[in-house]
Amino acid sequence: MFFDMQENSKKEKIKCYGCGALVDNIAGQPHKYLGATQGCWNLYGQILAKEFGEYNYPELTHRLTVDTYAIQHPGQPCRQSIQSVNVHLISLYFIFIENLSGKEATKKMAEILAKEPKFKWLEPPIPNGQKNIIDVLAATNQEEHEKLVKEWAENVWDCWYSKHRLAIESIKDLFL
Ligand SMILES: [Zn+2]
Repeated sequence: MFFDMQENSKKEKIKCYGCGALVDNIAGQPHKYLGATQGCWNLYGQILAKEFGEYNYPELTHRLTVDTYAIQHPGQPCRQSIQSVNVHLISLYFIFIENLSGKEATKKMAEILAKEPKFKWLEPPIPNGQKNIIDVLAATNQEEHEKLVKEWAENVWDCWYSKHRLAIESIKDLFL
């Protein structure tokens, strides 16, 4: 628990146990297996609302947002969280390493899932990115938003890829 007196904020702030962002301390368990605090989840909702609304669904950026949020909030090891982290990492692999489009990366994820692979739990890197959705929320227009999402995604992806490069490549190789 952390109370930011200097900000003189009315709401108590806590550190999201997924991404480390300082968010409003709001009660609630927002998602079955993603490890996010309610305050962080609400901010994620604001970003998704921008992407589906005023930004008219920028496909690659939206892919990056969803993948990055998932791997930055891996939760506890269980079948769904293990699958989620693995599949979103594969998507980012195809985008950043193989230069696929958002649409192609989504298709790859579906192809891999259809084979019902046995994924392994990958221990999250520490830190799990130095950027988080609060950095993305600073955007005031679409161009800025897309730039900030890309920087956030690259930052978190680099943490995972440098720790789990062999594991990520071996999953990808199994299904090509
Ligand atoms: Zn978070």
